[in-house]
Amino acid sequence: MEYFCLTDSHEIGACCHALKCGDETVVVDSGLHPKMTGYEAMPPHDKLEGETVHSVVLTHSHLDHVGTIPVLQRQFPQARVYMTAATFDLADAMLHNSVNVMTSQSNELNIPEYPLFTHTMVEECTLKWETRKYNRKFNAEGGVEMLFQDAGHIMGSCTASVQYEGKKVLFTGDVQTEDQTLIKGADIRPEGDYDAIVMETTRGASPRPDGFSREGEEERLAKAIVAGLEAGGAVLIPVFAMGKTQEVLTMISQFKAVGLIPDVPVHVGGLSTKMTTIYDRHSNKTRRKTPRFKILRDMNVRVARKGNKSPIMPKAGEIYCLSSGMMSEKTVSNLFARHFIDDARNALLFVGYADPDSPAGKIRAASTGDEISLDSKRPPLPLNCKVEVFDFSGHAPREDLLEIAIGSGAKKIFLTHGDTDAREWFRQELSKAMPDSEIIVPESGMRYEI
Ligand SMILES: [Zn+2]
Ligand SMILES: [Zn+2]
Repeated sequence: MEYFCLTDSHEIGACCHALKCGDETVVVDSGLHPKMTGYEAMPPHDKLEGETVHSVVLTHSHLDHVGTIPVLQRQFPQARVYMTAATFDLADAMLHNSVNVMTSQSNELNIPEYPLFTHTMVEECTLKWETRKYNRKFNAEGGVEMLFQDAGHIMGSCTASVQYEGKKVLFTGDVQTEDQTLIKGADIRPEGDYDAIVMETTRGASPRPDGFSREGEEERLAKAIVAGLEAGGAVLIPVFAMGKTQEVLTMISQFKAVGLIPDVPVHVGGLSTKMTTIYDRHSNKTRRKTPRFKILRDMNVRVARKGNKSPIMPKAGEIYCLSSGMMSEKTVSNLFARHFIDDARNALLFVGYADPDSPAGKIRAASTGDEISLDSKRPPLPLNCKVEVFDFSGHAPREDLLEIAIGSGAKKIFLTHGDTDAREWFRQELSKAMPDSEIIVPESGMRYEI
């Protein structure tokens, strides 16, 4: 066996891994870089030239893992693409939305290579997609055996174990070991018989503050919502359309049920509605803490009408969960914020990651009264609303990931999907805990024997 990484950047980039099993090469994920555009956002697929690829695995539907899968499938039209049923539906919707985003970026930012694929290509791609269940081994081309286990990161996410001629490699994908509000934590039991593990390291440089608990964080969020409502303002929670939206809506529903917050209207908009519909469709078929709960049916969420071009306007005493989470230009949360951030009665609550260069990142770093540029083509606005940040990460605490790596017994551990500091923490800790194993930060394209 031979492992090689096709992610160029030393941060969370366009995820793509390859594992050579005899004459076959299995590809795991093919993402789109969240911060780059054009060809630079793609994994270096040319490094797969000459390989025979019949099997591709998608660990989950975030764009940094699936965003260039149609391009990879064009290069290897014979490949069968394996994933869970929930990932199938979510990835399909994400890719179609990505075509729309790339098409508008092509004109606005002058990126002639965009869109990298069309709606028709996405439809053709999905014909080669096959769903597999958790915890059931299956055979892929060329004597390769695979097993998916629930990674607990978002609905449908899986770890992938690939076995060939007595050797076994674990790809963690993105993992959350702890229960979230809706999705249950990972269901993985490494049995110590792995030869190699390719692991994410997202939170390697983010230790938990003392006394942190998810319940405590939920309580703090409920209090901040109440404070915003009682101040006579509206509450804006910018959320990623997939995963975070559904987690936050479930939290709000639970807060209301136990009287932590009053029963006020909750609005969703943007891509969130489509993604929530898919979450609801899979509510009985995926591991979650509230299997019968269907968000859109049971919560009476107010959905911004599709095709309604006039922006949603804030109303005092109401809650708005709008995408995107980073408040990127031209998204619903960004347009909404123009009528929101200058009013001191309003509360802006962040529940997920924000790149420091994004509008959300700039607001988080700013102080009250600072001028904020939400849109490069419009004048900045003063930040007068209250701002609070919460930690509801979909990624495992670093100590839990360390335990998974140690539990795998792997002789080679590849550190991926994290910035330099994050990987360095894992490299040091694992070198101490597993002195007989090689701890490797893989170079793009370099081949490592397993
Ligand atoms: Zn992810
Ligand atoms: Zn990721």
